[in-house]
Amino acid sequence: MSITGGDVVDLGTGLYAWLPPKRGWGLANCGLLVSPRGGLWIDTPYDPVLAGQFLVESEKRLPDGATVDRIVVTHANGDHFWGAGVLPDAEIIATREAREHIHYDPTPQQQHALVTQSDPATPLGAYLGRHFGVFDWSATEPVQPTTYFTGELELTLGAYAVEITALPPAHTGGDLIVHLPAQRAVFSGDVIFSSSPEQPGDHPVHWAGPLGNVIAACERVLATGAEVIVPGHGPVLDRAGVHEHIGYLSYVRERAHALHAAGVPPLEAARRVIAEGRYPALGLPERLVVTVGTEYRHLDGGTDMPGVLQVMSQVAAVAHEAEPAMTGGGAE
Ligand SMILES: [Zn+2]
Repeated sequence: MSITGGDVVDLGTGLYAWLPPKRGWGLANCGLLVSPRGGLWIDTPYDPVLAGQFLVESEKRLPDGATVDRIVVTHANGDHFWGAGVLPDAEIIATREAREHIHYDPTPQQQHALVTQSDPATPLGAYLGRHFGVFDWSATEPVQPTTYFTGELELTLGAYAVEITALPPAHTGGDLIVHLPAQRAVFSGDVIFSSSPEQPGDHPVHWAGPLGNVIAACERVLATGAEVIVPGHGPVLDRAGVHEHIGYLSYVRERAHALHAAGVPPLEAARRVIAEGRYPALGLPERLVVTVGTEYRHLDGGTDMPGVLQVMSQVAAVAHEAEPAMTGGGAE
């Protein structure tokens, strides 16, 4: 079983967004910038099947003989760069800090083993199978960026400027945003997860934090003056959509701080924020376990991130508690 489809949205002036066919874990947006000189990707899909589909769509839009020879990776979660194997000769650009996160996440083949070999009778095994079983990394080699930078990096593609800014720790420890001034657009990566009435999205998940940094990253996106914002997941936004998302993040931050001050343990705090049901249209509410846990870690003095399996076991347990009334959102 694999996922097919996906929408290419023409944002004008040689810029396109590729949106996956549905919401859920691992289904991230990508960008394509085309000039007579060639093409550049912003992020890749999660597995070779989806990345191959994005490549076919990209080649339809490239001039004859031109190739995609650079990939800018917004952060080092696999759903944004494990598809890079379909462009084996491309330069892969990431922040220096993203290097650390590559070692935090499992490799593609470790993840494949985890998804296919976990016991489906356990909440974790069932959760991984349901949400990640549609991807195929059985033959995916780990991807290594070829170019690391710190601070700011400006590229050009033909006549177009590509302004890349590294961020302080937010969604992960190595996020960046890509501003395309000629297109008045920003690709924000996962500092923004969007939703609209026509195309509902999922709750964000933030690994590094604190949420104050995620909010600051959203404000930085707005400060570019961009009118079109392509988030890491969910529909393309205008500036009002980013303001709305800042409202979501501020709400979660405020609730986490209040529950922390009241002495409520982190997992119970996440359950309570989920039970408040403030954003009922969003899928995967169990991801609040990660985001609230991240905020608590900072409030408690900011030690290292817990292991990803330990965190995902808690996420799966909370999703399991909510069944069958709520199966955890959009990936099935
Ligand atoms: Zn993502």
